Amino acid sequence: MPVIDAHTHLGQCRVFDLDSAEDGLIDSMDEHGIDVSLVQPYPGAPSASDVHDRIAAMSKANPGRFFGIASINPHQDEQAYFAELSRCVKGLGFVGVKLHTIGHAVNPAGADGSLIFESAAQLGIPVMVHTGPGIPFAAPSALQPQLERFPKVKVVMAHAGHGIFSGEAIAMGQAYPQVSLEPSWCAFYNVGGMVEALGAARVLFGSDLPPNIPIQAATFQALGLSEDDEALVMGGAAKEIFELDV
Ligand SMILES: [Zn+2]
Repeated sequence: MPVIDAHTHLGQCRVFDLDSAEDGLIDSMDEHGIDVSLVQPYPGAPSASDVHDRIAAMSKANPGRFFGIASINPHQDEQAYFAELSRCVKGLGFVGVKLHTIGHAVNPAGADGSLIFESAAQLGIPVMVHTGPGIPFAAPSALQPQLERFPKVKVVMAHAGHGIFSGEAIAMGQAYPQVSLEPSWCAFYNVGGMVEALGAARVLFGSDLPPNIPIQAATFQALGLSEDDEALVMGGAAKEIFELDV
């Protein structure tokens, strides 16, 4: 089973003052034994479509190592939003879409949250949602209306509540089978609780930032999971949820 990082970024971020380049991403994967990364623009990308193109170019140059997740500010013309998402999925082979509750100031239960879920349902892709910092929009329970409305749209909670709201993220996972958790930045005991409550097939390794790869990997190792469960959290779950051809 390949090791899959389900959550990393490329390009510039003017919300969080970050910048990740292609070379740094590939080098950090090679250094830490990551076979495949799911890459998305940061919410503060000056042009999300430019970063989508860079992700597509990186996927083409490194077959099987990179898959794209689109991240587009939904506070714009609805057709323009859908056109760019559609281009990513149908034209560039992207496998998911990000709903950035804090970076794009999106209330998951609001009209533009609905636009993202309706678009994902139409294109048949999972929605990754930023959870944790950025309350109230980033509360795991803020997703409840869309989880009720779209039972077939798979939802990955990025940061899985970020520790302080991880109990709420687990409770949402227990109530809604379409929910999985990507616990970057959570403490090991939060992550252990997730695997125990939802099973390893619904918990995904994600780094968020290249320097966090070894830290997040060590968090999973500290749990002392069975070999099968470790293979799931380190890749099997992401392969299944995003239907990756790896
Ligand atoms: Zn992120």
